[in-house]
Amino acid sequence: KIVNPRDTILKITTTAICGSDLHLYDGVVMTMRNGDVLGHEFMGEVVEVGSKTNLQKGDRVIVPFNIACGNCHNCGKELYSACDNTNPNAAGNEKIYGYPTSGMYGYSHLYGGYDGGQAEYVRVPYSDVNPLKIPEGMSDEQVLFLTDIFPTGFMAAENCEIKGGDTVAIWGAGPVGQFAIRSAFLLGAGRVISIDNIPDRLEMAKAGGAETLNFDTVNILEELKEMTAGRGPDSCIDAVGMEAHGTELGNIYDYTKQALRLSVDRPNVLRQMILACGKAGTLSIPGVYVGLVDKLPFGIAFGKGLTWKMGQTHVQRYLPRLMKYIQDGDIDPTFIITHRLKLSEAPQAYETFKQKRDNCIKVVMTP
Ligand code: NAD
Ligand code: ZN
Repeated sequence: KIVNPRDTILKITTTAICGSDLHLYDGVVMTMRNGDVLGHEFMGEVVEVGSKTNLQKGDRVIVPFNIACGNCHNCGKELYSACDNTNPNAAGNEKIYGYPTSGMYGYSHLYGGYDGGQAEYVRVPYSDVNPLKIPEGMSDEQVLFLTDIFPTGFMAAENCEIKGGDTVAIWGAGPVGQFAIRSAFLLGAGRVISIDNIPDRLEMAKAGGAETLNFDTVNILEELKEMTAGRGPDSCIDAVGMEAHGTELGNIYDYTKQALRLSVDRPNVLRQMILACGKAGTLSIPGVYVGLVDKLPFGIAFGKGLTWKMGQTHVQRYLPRLMKYIQDGDIDPTFIITHRLKLSEAPQAYETFKQKRDNCIKVVMTP
């Protein structure tokens, strides 16, 4: 239902499952409640409008996963995922506890408790600010990933401040990692090294131009050193996040703490990136973390003078530029889709994506 004049109601035409949804599915993000509707990568047709939106019935739109008010200090600086007004649980200067991001669709009450778009209909608040109308002639699958994973991979690469010819190492060859690989090349990287242990994901990384390392078969730190003449990569991207598989001794410790709900984050990739990155390099962290991480070699990070950049993506900021890449044929985002299912098959879709069954990399669903 329209509850605010700035709302619209969207009839969903296509929606996707994200690696971020797996953190909810696995129960490692707190504050989920019975009846919450998931889904933050969705698009559709406007079927009802509030009195204060510029959208019209019949418009086809994509909706960024992060909800921005468009009026606050941070929105004014295009820092949309740091919006001050859309997350009732947010911590700001006046409130110390809470979670300091904008609201997000279908992502627990930490992020405001908004119902998501793995559904037939969704309420889109602040619809005068966030949705983007889709140009004539573009298919759902061509533009759907502008809601999240393409801008997320792009911002991850942009945060590396790539200078011509830089070497970028990217942990995780899931959807975010795949878009980060292609974005790093769009931004001028000389070499991209993709790290995972799933062969078909590494194959897809290779098709995107990356060199690949399988962490089951090689020692990542030694290999990265060897490949960069002892210097380490210029920048490192964590496209894995809080459920990283352990490759080091910290492994058992982190799994135990997470299983006992003493911790929610397993920072294996963060540890490796600190050790691997070249001096004065950059760590870019799109992978999601929500709690306290420990056993980080912070002294090494300090000694190397590393720059850290991280956070939820400011999706809205990137839309015109990325839409142009798609229209100009610089990238065809549909390369990532391996599975197309009905919304009614969502439970099976989640399991297939989570278990990486049947070479699954990205699932899209239609109601
Ligand atoms: P995914 O689960 O499909 O991919 C994660 C990949 O990491 C898997 O292929 C897995 O095999 C690999 N991996 C696990 N442990 C590893 C290790 N130790 N070293 C290297 N690779 C390892 O998820 P995705 O959709 O690609 O999302 C990746 C991360 O990005 C998630 O944490 C997700 O929540 C986050 N994300 C963040 C934003 C944002 O705005 N910052 C947006 C979307 C997704
Ligand atoms: Zn997502």
